[in-house]
Amino acid sequence: MEHTKILLDENEMPKQWYNILADLSVEPPLNPATNEPMNPKDLEPIFAKELIKQEASTKRYIDIPEEIREIYSLWRPSPLYRAHRLEKALGTPAKIYYKNESVSPAGSHKPNTAVAQAYYNMKEGTERITTETGAGQWGSALSLSCNYFGIECKVYMVSSSFYQKPYRKSLINLWGANVVPSPSPDTQFGRKIREMYPDTSGSLGIAISEAVEDAALNDNTKYALGSVLNHTCLHQTVVGLETQKQFAKTEDYPDIIIGCCGGGSNLAGASLPYIRDNIAGKTNTRVIAVEPSACPTLTSGDFKYDFGDMAKMTPLLKMFTLGSEFIPPAIHAGGLRYHGASPIISKLVADGLMEATAYHQVEVFDASVTFARSEGIAPAPESAHAIKCTIDEAMKCKQTGEEKTIFFNLSGHGHFDMGSYDKYFSGDLSNE
Ligand SMILES: *Cc1c(COP(=O)(O)O)cnc(C)c1O
Repeated sequence: MEHTKILLDENEMPKQWYNILADLSVEPPLNPATNEPMNPKDLEPIFAKELIKQEASTKRYIDIPEEIREIYSLWRPSPLYRAHRLEKALGTPAKIYYKNESVSPAGSHKPNTAVAQAYYNMKEGTERITTETGAGQWGSALSLSCNYFGIECKVYMVSSSFYQKPYRKSLINLWGANVVPSPSPDTQFGRKIREMYPDTSGSLGIAISEAVEDAALNDNTKYALGSVLNHTCLHQTVVGLETQKQFAKTEDYPDIIIGCCGGGSNLAGASLPYIRDNIAGKTNTRVIAVEPSACPTLTSGDFKYDFGDMAKMTPLLKMFTLGSEFIPPAIHAGGLRYHGASPIISKLVADGLMEATAYHQVEVFDASVTFARSEGIAPAPESAHAIKCTIDEAMKCKQTGEEKTIFFNLSGHGHFDMGSYDKYFSGDLSNE
């Protein structure tokens, strides 16, 4: 039998996260009132102190607390698969591997940081956490994690997804959190937007403004962000560190690493430990960020300081951005509809340490169906962007006869995205 699934023992799960800020300098967030670097104290009304510390830390390895590892062990280490059946379907000499992050209870990589953020908040006495969610994956991951630690959770869910994906909402309720469509009547900013744009389908930028306002105005309440920030990328490195141990059990080493990019956290998690080795001059692995053509942050945006939200309440981040007022079309990969990108990923792209590419929605679903019909797993539309790029690279190998090893991160499953697949099959899916 061909070797298909590469597993690690529980005791092989990493005991530390890797912090790329030890090896890469990223420009600091700025206070929008002064345009000076943010004073960490100013973030304390909104974020747990330990997370603020991690955000700016340049320590190369940060210990993963035992309580977090215990929860991780419910689904981690996650399996690495060799996609023999996809390779055969494509007729490619390339070797394709993928890390299956869909095995977490919420069905994506997001609990890797949600559990950590809920844990540090619990340690500091936070009673309630607010957040936004686009497609619902982050909201469900955070409600799962708050539930583990007995913290109340309120989710502002982008209105278009709230109605398009009612079962993500149910899942958030199942784990005990409160979820409302954004813009909501519950915040000042939400009320203002509802008055100005009564028909708006919402955006992540609006929902972030609502969640931050709620946390800022309530004493026992903090805010949590599921991607973009340095500490979210840090927590996700458990993915790439496991992958390196798994590849060590094979004859192969990735020539190309591919991940979809919304805020950038799953891509960061899978690739940063490899980029560490590239920076150290040990390896020369290509890393490719894949985004939707409908929200082409890295491929068409500007690299500059911008706000993370529409109300301009967040610190200014140096990142690729389409502008904080940009409202992307309601494409089905809701998790990739963000106007900005992680400062770490942005810096890597700006420095030429990472490539970026964009695909249209329909070709992405074509690739997703090819994958599901060979490997069996139904991918999240977000993850399908990475699959499309993987298939393209594998087809290039078919032309040249090169036996490259391609590794991609399967960031989540698409069990709650069947409405999108139905649209694809009935021919109603458009490219915008
Ligand atoms: C949220 C999400 C993404 C996009 O977020 P990143 O921070 O870029 O990883 C991708 N895939 C899935 C399954 C998600 O839930």
